[in-house]
Amino acid sequence: MKVITAVKRVVDYNVKVRVKSDQSGVDIDNVKMSMNPFDEIAVEAATRLKEANVATEVLAVTCGTQQSQETLRTALAIGADRAVLVETQAELQPLAVAKLLKAVVEKEQPRLVILGKQAIDDDAGQTGQLLAALLDWPQATFASDIRIEGDWATVTREVDGGLEVVSLKLPAIVTTDLRLNEPRYVTLPNIMKAKKKPLDVLAAEALGIDPSPRLKTLRVEEPAARKAGVKVPDVATLVEKLKNEAKVI
Ligand code: AMP
Repeated sequence: MKVITAVKRVVDYNVKVRVKSDQSGVDIDNVKMSMNPFDEIAVEAATRLKEANVATEVLAVTCGTQQSQETLRTALAIGADRAVLVETQAELQPLAVAKLLKAVVEKEQPRLVILGKQAIDDDAGQTGQLLAALLDWPQATFASDIRIEGDWATVTREVDGGLEVVSLKLPAIVTTDLRLNEPRYVTLPNIMKAKKKPLDVLAAEALGIDPSPRLKTLRVEEPAARKAGVKVPDVATLVEKLKNEAKVI
């Protein structure tokens, strides 16, 4: 069973981004970039399926510029066997990514595609769902457990206030939630090995897809600054403030 994992290069989750002065977006010049955390979980999940002899090959795919090769190398160091960069200079939005991934899926014929539930830069949470719709495949989003038996996947989903277990026929799309696994630490020997694994580059134009954006960002704003806290001398003052100032009790 071939498994594809979709990985995105995003601003590292530790970086505190700044809104540009013209509010057109956030400044990402010279900031640390890393693999989207939910995609690391996706690669780890696929690697574990391979280690359990359920998957036969794990392919990591990214859409973006040459620099995204770095993200693919990380996926290869975690455990992917092969990587594909769909190269484009276009500003990619989820629909364009889903269309590009669909073209790769049609070429590679995987039985399972694992994506993150959300990219931490655009917070769109759309690509997996769009891809499932374009392929007309079943999907299970926000997975906290994936089991494969024969032609079926059993996926536990994190839903409000509990868990839901669904069964879906392969080929299928799964998106990962935080508690699916804890991705392994990438070791130096594995980084060295990853350098020798195959990484192919496909031009987005060669796939006959127009990746141009459908949405225009009008404005990006900083969240409102939080007011400084105060220290209270005792519990009685705290209760009084919660009651009369904050009016929360
Ligand atoms: P989003 O819909 O943008 O929140 O992204 C959800 C998931 O889609 C991510 O966690 C990735 O698995 C995948 N994805 C989004 N953008 C890309 C991209 N440029 N290349 C590869 N995968 C992507």
